[in-house]
Amino acid sequence: ICILAVETSCDETAAAVVKNGKTVLSNVISSQIELHTVYGGVVPELASRNHIEKINYVIAQALSDADIKVSEIDAVAVTCGPGLVGALLVGVAHAKAFAYALKKPLIGVHHIEGHIAANYIEHDIKPPFLCLVVSGGHTQLAAVKDYTDIEIIGKTCDDAAGEAFDKVARSIGLGYPGGPKIDAEAKKGDPYAIVFPKAKVAKSEYDFSFSGVKSAVLNYLNSVNMRGKAVNTADVAASFQKSVVEVLVEHTVKAAHDYGFKQAAMAGGVAANSLLRETMKKTCDENGIKLYYPSPVYCTDNAAMIGAAAYYDFLNGKRSGLDLNAFPALKLGEKVE
Ligand code: ATP
Ligand code: MG
Ligand code: FE
Repeated sequence: ICILAVETSCDETAAAVVKNGKTVLSNVISSQIELHTVYGGVVPELASRNHIEKINYVIAQALSDADIKVSEIDAVAVTCGPGLVGALLVGVAHAKAFAYALKKPLIGVHHIEGHIAANYIEHDIKPPFLCLVVSGGHTQLAAVKDYTDIEIIGKTCDDAAGEAFDKVARSIGLGYPGGPKIDAEAKKGDPYAIVFPKAKVAKSEYDFSFSGVKSAVLNYLNSVNMRGKAVNTADVAASFQKSVVEVLVEHTVKAAHDYGFKQAAMAGGVAANSLLRETMKKTCDENGIKLYYPSPVYCTDNAAMIGAAAYYDFLNGKRSGLDLNAFPALKLGEKVE
């Protein structure tokens, strides 16, 4: 089964051709980072317009890289939510046109199901497993009971982990997107230099809260500035990163233990974080949990992960109509027609 997949939920215009949910024949990603950098974050209207400019080239490149005839495509998959509505609509409209022209089924895919499915591309992991989803807009602990049966058992009450990385990076002048910049800067700093709080959510041990640590960083910066001292950005980055990573690891291992999962995975852009990968691996090893995570290129937004998720939807009989819409706040498992 050969799937042409399209992803335009945020600031990456992406298309890929994926065979049997595993073999990536092509994976084209056009990033808008430069476009949004001057604004310090994604500007939705600019994102939509840029997707429109790029989408035809990106899909054409994915088909040519894959070196297959369009007649060999069995289905067209597209992220239909959650994400920026204008951005999603560009991908959805183009995928529909392709499905109609090729007379092949259309499959609307949940973006987070895609992030989780990124793990199937390079590894032989099979459900059930616990997945820590850590991206720019989500921080969740997902019980992946089956390929298309996912239950959220914990989530953030406020900021997503990636959002916290981005905001803290901006406050210490590292720029956008902050995650990779903090990751690099932290390597030069002392993670024990400053003690930032590890936020726990009362009575819900699998939930997260990152607005507290973000405020703690801002308060720290203000107090240092007021004393007329220079901020050691590497120490701030390292100390902040340590605080966030520890909470992510502790909650994941606790949930895996309580729910009896012997396998765990990570997904989303923050899963590319080097300290998180290292610490999670070590802690899972110590606790007898087998850990999987995708290569960095499959952690951040891409269409190969959408093609991987769509394969299991396809096998499960899921089909979307040519009236498929974009759903900016789509929930996992929510039915869309
Ligand atoms: P969502 O998937 O929730 O809709 P998104 O698609 O914008 O949000 P992703 O593309 O999965 O998010 O991930 C982007 C986020 O990952 C950004 O917040 C970015 O800062 C963060 N990120 C990327 N690389 C790293 C890294 N090495 N360390 C920490 N964070 C990182
Ligand atoms: Mg992005
Ligand atoms: Fe994403």
